[in-house]
Amino acid sequence: MSMEEMLTSANQDGPLAAALTQLDDAADLISLDDSVHQKLRKPKRIITVSIPTAMDDGSFKVFTGYRAQHNMDRGPCKGGIRYHPDVTLNEVIALAMWMTWKCAVVNIPYGGAKGGVICSPKDMSQGELERMTRRFTTELVEVIGPEKDIPAPDVYTNAQIMAWIMDTYSMQKGYSVPAVVTGKPISLGGSLGREAATGRGCVFTIREAMKRLNIDATSSTFVVQGYGNVGAWAARLLEPLGPKMIAASDSRGGCYSADGIPVQELIAHKAETGSVVGFPGTDAVTNEELLELDCDVLIPAALENSINEDNAGQIKASIIAEGANGPTTPAGQEILNDRGIFVIPDILANAGGVTVSYFEWVQGLQSYFWSEAEVNKQLEDIMVRAFDRVYCEHEERNCDMRAAAMAVAVGRVAEAVHMRGIYP
Ligand code: GLU
Repeated sequence: MSMEEMLTSANQDGPLAAALTQLDDAADLISLDDSVHQKLRKPKRIITVSIPTAMDDGSFKVFTGYRAQHNMDRGPCKGGIRYHPDVTLNEVIALAMWMTWKCAVVNIPYGGAKGGVICSPKDMSQGELERMTRRFTTELVEVIGPEKDIPAPDVYTNAQIMAWIMDTYSMQKGYSVPAVVTGKPISLGGSLGREAATGRGCVFTIREAMKRLNIDATSSTFVVQGYGNVGAWAARLLEPLGPKMIAASDSRGGCYSADGIPVQELIAHKAETGSVVGFPGTDAVTNEELLELDCDVLIPAALENSINEDNAGQIKASIIAEGANGPTTPAGQEILNDRGIFVIPDILANAGGVTVSYFEWVQGLQSYFWSEAEVNKQLEDIMVRAFDRVYCEHEERNCDMRAAAMAVAVGRVAEAVHMRGIYP
């Protein structure tokens, strides 16, 4: 299938169709030059690889992996790698496009990329994951690198997987190259504060939104869909600011208590049992019911498309802070707009992760490491500045926060494209 066919055949409810609609809307809003618009609708490069992997039972599996590099006009490509059974190439392209806008909205010098492997990591042993990761890295060795494209963790990938990528890449080059990935273990040049960074950044944007909307944090409530790295860290850092968590979920289901659920205890329960389900003193809720609970702040931190035209009309939160990438469809967003719900879009709300990835890359290149306090302070500066810039745009253009963030981001990328010119 040609790239054109793939883009035009993008499933109308899928993430690529959503990403293209958002770009087209931004292009209209800022009167984007048509040649730049056409260029930005397509990824710069997509790579599909087969990943033959020996399984523990003596069998052999050939996994499929992707890396999409959407844009590198403002610097090397940056973006995570996800391991999930539902990964598709269209999804990876959409996620790469969102990374371009995310890096631009917080004004860090990167373009966007994303990778994914179709697999069920929960059913694989550490050995299987290691062999699959090392072979995937080997297949990508020519297209990734500290000046080209720098992977990081995403859904169901973690610091250990980044360590295997760093080691495999370094073995191929013949010397250690820590800056080829971010989200590494601290012992290999990871940054202090990286693990909490996406959740921390999300909380900074919620705090700023509450100030603007005059919501009293101490009497407010929040709900988290997806109690993984992003959701649980956001909960952990939001709770001390005053709001009470009344529900949380993961892929197995959710739990709810109007009296509040202690964040740290729920983290311990999930670590012990593998899920938030069944936390003592709570009632069971489904992922769908949880989204419609009465609360002030809803943090969707799971996968794409969870807020859509079927449920957006029932959401009761005042603020939605998108910890996940692409949780709200364009049709869902329209309904939320009509109902006056304030959405902090993914490219702003979850940009804390890639921002500290940038700090990790800078520290690695300089072999000079910062204190955690320094990392958190610099993160706060960037997140607050980006929030303010987007909020001003939202007021000036009288548009929702996503359109405002896209206007800022696409405008910055377009400026870089103009200054460079289209080669040759
Ligand atoms: N996967 C994260 C995201 O979607 C982090 C990417 C990175 O640090 O490069 O933003």
